[in-house]
Order: sequence, then structure tokens, then C-alpha cells
Amino acid sequence: VNAGDALDDALAMPLVDHHCHGVRRDDLTRAAFEGLLTEGGPAPAGTTHFDGPVGLAVRRWCAPVLGLEPYADPEAYLDRRRDLGAVEANRRLLRAAGIADFCVDTGVAGDDLLTPVEMGRLGGARAHEVVRIESVAEEVAGRCPPATAYAAELTDEIARRADRAVGLKTVVAYRIGFDFDPRPPGSREVTAAAARWLAGPERLTDPVLIRHALWTGAEIAGDRGLPLQVHTGFGDTDLTLHRVNPALLTDFIRLVPATVVLLHCYPYIREAAYLATAYPHVYADVGLTVTHTAASSARVIAEMLELAPFGKVLFSTDCYGLAELCHLGAHFFRRSLGAVLTERAGEWPPADLPRVARLIGADNARRLYSLKAA
Ligand SMILES: [Zn+2]
Repeated sequence: VNAGDALDDALAMPLVDHHCHGVRRDDLTRAAFEGLLTEGGPAPAGTTHFDGPVGLAVRRWCAPVLGLEPYADPEAYLDRRRDLGAVEANRRLLRAAGIADFCVDTGVAGDDLLTPVEMGRLGGARAHEVVRIESVAEEVAGRCPPATAYAAELTDEIARRADRAVGLKTVVAYRIGFDFDPRPPGSREVTAAAARWLAGPERLTDPVLIRHALWTGAEIAGDRGLPLQVHTGFGDTDLTLHRVNPALLTDFIRLVPATVVLLHCYPYIREAAYLATAYPHVYADVGLTVTHTAASSARVIAEMLELAPFGKVLFSTDCYGLAELCHLGAHFFRRSLGAVLTERAGEWPPADLPRVARLIGADNARRLYSLKAA
């Protein structure tokens, strides 16, 4: 077997998508579909989100999965999607991704999103749950416990949910950014903040309670050996980009008792690569970034691999809403990692390149999340 064929075989491996979300179960209007193509707001009048890296990639790489010619125009694509129905379109696109395991963040739940079990069934994969800490805190607050009981109830509820999860996840990036006091707040501070919040609990935005929930989750994750996923870098407009640079987490990383997985990272990929190099308990992925940079994603993967140890880099699609984002995330991951590794053949031992591909595509995640072999 020559080295190129062996690398192609390795890249065709069933992947472990260590971070994704449910996709929509309903048929989508053009506006709804375009809204899910982007992390940002609606396209201004006279423009369309199909005119961008992801939109063009849908026409090129997803159209054939639905039985259309490559480059089908957006209307033809969406008509075909509706004719097939959401179940069949989702089934085709999720299966085309070639994923063996989905680790599904259930923090944004809704009747219109597939559950982890359904993602697994439609995608021909195993499914696992990742529990979002802030969503559990909001659920606990919704029961309106006395402020003095809030902390204990949150600990119990996160622990109970962690029993059947493979990891925990925090969206502190979206709520307060990373320039927060990295130490856990004191218990009197927590009770006082809980009393204010529980008077009319809504979205969790109080910095004391966010730090408290983060630390509660981190300690449970540490005790159980579960990784703590941290959204970093770009995302929707709830976050402020310069405050979610993962380098701002350095003091928290020094204190936290759990393994930390930095998600997405764009454009702070080199910062994440450095943290993964410097700290034994830090891992990183460029999921979401690979999907959204699409045809340019080899540059993103190359940047991560400039410095990060190959045993610390993970694959994810971070698909949300659209099964297209799952297929594209897997497609561009395979193609771009292949391009990056091929460029280094001769510099790095050619026989080792397939092994590096398997580490990043599946084996690192299996080890980290204690998943069984495919
Ligand atoms: Zn996500």
C-alpha cells in the first residue's frame, strides 16, 4: 500500500463528532434555512447567505447527496429538500458524514430539534449526551428553590445529569466572556446572588452565579473524569469576540480541576494551540470553524497543527439545525486534514500520517470521552 492510499483509507474512517447539536426535524422555509446557515443575523435585502463559503459549499457538496447535480441553485436545492422531506434529507446528509459517534450538546433543546437518540438513529451512529451547565442552572432556578438551597440543588442536578453524559459544556463565553475572576465565588456571595435571581429567574446572566455554576460543573467533571467543553471564539451575536479569546482563560485553566476542551477557537486558533501545548489537561478543536471557512479550511487546520500536539486535537462538526452542516464539517475536515498532512509527507514520516489522521478524527476523542471502539 503506498502512503497516499493509506492516508486516504485513514481519512475515510468513521469519525467521532465530539461536539454537535440536534438538527431541525421540520421542513424549512428558505428564510429559516438561511438563518441556520450563518452564526450571524439575516442577510440584508438584496443579498443572500447562499453567497458565502457555506452557502456555496451546500450547493457543491450537499446537492449530490440529495440527488441533484453539483452547484444546484438555492431554490432547486430547497425544493428538492422539501420533496424528500426533512426525515429523508436529514438521514442522507447525516449518513453521508460517515460519523460513528455523536456527542450531542443538549443545552438548546426544543421540540423542533432531533434528540441525541434520533441523531444516532438517522445518522447510523451511536449518540452520547453532553450536558450544558448553564441550562441546568436555569432549570433548577425555574423550580424556584429557596436561595439557601440553590447551590446544593444545582450540585445534585448536575451530578444526576452527569451520570448519563460523556462530558459537560459551558457557554460562559456567551454570558460574560472570559475576563472574569477565575476563582469560585464564596457561598454567601452565591446565596445573595441567588436570592436576587430567584425573585424572577430568567436567563442566567449574573457573573457570580455563572462563575459558581461553572465551578460546580468543573468540580463534578473533575471528580468523574469527564471533559469540560468550553465554547471559545466566534459564535452568534450574543458574544463579544475579543472577550472570548481562549488566552483570557489562562488563570482559570491553571485552577480548574477538570480536563478542558476548547471548542471552535476562530480566529484565536494559535492561542488555543498554545494552550493545548502548554497545559496537559487542555485539548482543542476547530469544529464549526472548518465548516464555516469551508474551502479555506485547510489553512485553519494547518494553523492548529503548527503547534498543538497531535494527541490533543479533536474533530467536531458543531452542526446545529441543519444536517448540511454535519456533512460539510466532516467533508472539509477529511479533505483539509488530508491536504495538510500530504503537504508534510517526507518532512514527517509518511507511514505516520494515517496514524495522525486517526488520532485527530477519532482516537483522541475515544480516549478522552471513554468511548468504545467503533
Ligand atoms: Zn456547539
